[in-house]
Amino acid sequence: MRVLIASSEAIPYCKTGGLADVAGVLFKELNVMNIDARLILPLYSNISRDFELTDTGIELRIFLNRRYYSGRIYTHNKAIFIGCDELYGREGLYGDKTGDFADNALRFSYFCKAVIEVCKAIDFRPDIIHLNDWQTSLVPLYLRTEYSGDDFFRDTLTLLTIHNLGYQGLFSPEDLSATGLGREVFNPEGIEFYGKVNFLKAGILYADILSTVSRKYAEEITTPEYGFGLDGILKKRSADLFGILNGIDYREWSPEVDKLIQSRYSAEDLKGKALCKEKLMEQCNIRLKKGAPLLAFVGRLSVQKGVELIIEGLDKLIGYGCGVILLGTGTREAEESLLSISLEGRENLYIRLDFDEVFAHSVYAGSDMVMMPSRYEPCGLVQMIALRYGTVPVARNTGGLSDTIEDYNALNDTGTGFLFDDYNLAVFLESIKRALTLYSFSRRWQKLMKRGMEKDFSWRRFASEYVELYKKALKERLK
Ligand code: ADP
Repeated sequence: MRVLIASSEAIPYCKTGGLADVAGVLFKELNVMNIDARLILPLYSNISRDFELTDTGIELRIFLNRRYYSGRIYTHNKAIFIGCDELYGREGLYGDKTGDFADNALRFSYFCKAVIEVCKAIDFRPDIIHLNDWQTSLVPLYLRTEYSGDDFFRDTLTLLTIHNLGYQGLFSPEDLSATGLGREVFNPEGIEFYGKVNFLKAGILYADILSTVSRKYAEEITTPEYGFGLDGILKKRSADLFGILNGIDYREWSPEVDKLIQSRYSAEDLKGKALCKEKLMEQCNIRLKKGAPLLAFVGRLSVQKGVELIIEGLDKLIGYGCGVILLGTGTREAEESLLSISLEGRENLYIRLDFDEVFAHSVYAGSDMVMMPSRYEPCGLVQMIALRYGTVPVARNTGGLSDTIEDYNALNDTGTGFLFDDYNLAVFLESIKRALTLYSFSRRWQKLMKRGMEKDFSWRRFASEYVELYKKALKERLK
């Protein structure tokens, strides 16, 4: 089977969020499983700097926006990079601190066309083109329009994985020319969305199959509450919509082998975790009373992640005797609002506005709980990592959080974390208090930690599930 994974980010090359982990790990794992998988990415500045790429010498000339844009194909093992300095030779992937790049419609239209052109240029006929999010969502539409008579793709199916419906690639109608698509597709049955051009909608309408990153989220996005206006068309396609939970790479994320943490530990021997906590508190200048818990938040400072509940509840959390660590990055506005929090009188609060993976390892290992009061969470990797490190999640009962965390039940002493339903401060704090109560019973708490540490959210499982989905789609096409 030949699979082309098209993504706007993938580890180890470039990353802003969970999509990078999923795309990079899937690419690697499919090849381990003897599937001929290629990965295709735009060539951002950092990649040319950090990796030794092979120049294939193959040029691309793509007509968009009333002119030709020249590109060049580079490779690194089986990964393919679309070089076009004019569009990708920048530091940010999608934008900078001031916001999104103004030419993103053009940048990702070009990328979508390049995905198709590269297949022909290197003579790689994929059985499946696995697309990810809005940045690659025009591929199925190009295949149905401009390339519809092209025999090269006669046997190719497209799968679009939606990692986050909150990001749809919405552009003004003037940007239609950047896509190279005709006005005939710009209507409510096509890619128009309340007067705008919607890239993700193209993928939802025209990809052969759809998936998203948890079963619960697959259900949620067909409802108005979580559908961001696309619930109607998603509902229509629900027979082709599947939920496959992401996974994490336990070679990187396991306290038994993690070289980035102060002391290694395991579910059988938790002593090292106490050392990690001590070291982390020292690093963050947090002084807690003996037996007091350390709570952390790791993630993007976006409305989605519900950071505002943590900020609103900060004084209460500190008042309960907890230490609080916030590690995150966001828009300048979000970062400034966090910076404006006075640290005075809040001794046990530490904020780091940085994307710092090394520090993230220490935070997962040294904290007692992670807080994830997300408004919505398609899958979430943070809670999976936290569970592995015996760091108990307190999270909203939504999307992937519902699928991966089992709410603690005091009656029969089961569960792996604490879930709450309503998005409001009082309910969030109530679940924190439930967690704190159990935390004071250290034997029960340790059992809770161990149950979480023993869960398996490995990439091995999710890669096999994607392969099953590819096979199912190919078999159904044959019918
Ligand atoms: P999303 O993809 O919505 O941003 P996920 O929970 O799926 O959220 O994945 C986030 C990933 O990025 C996790 O691996 C998390 O550890 C990492 N991460 C997020 N923010 C930071 C940060 N400021 N520093 C280091 N790692 C971070």
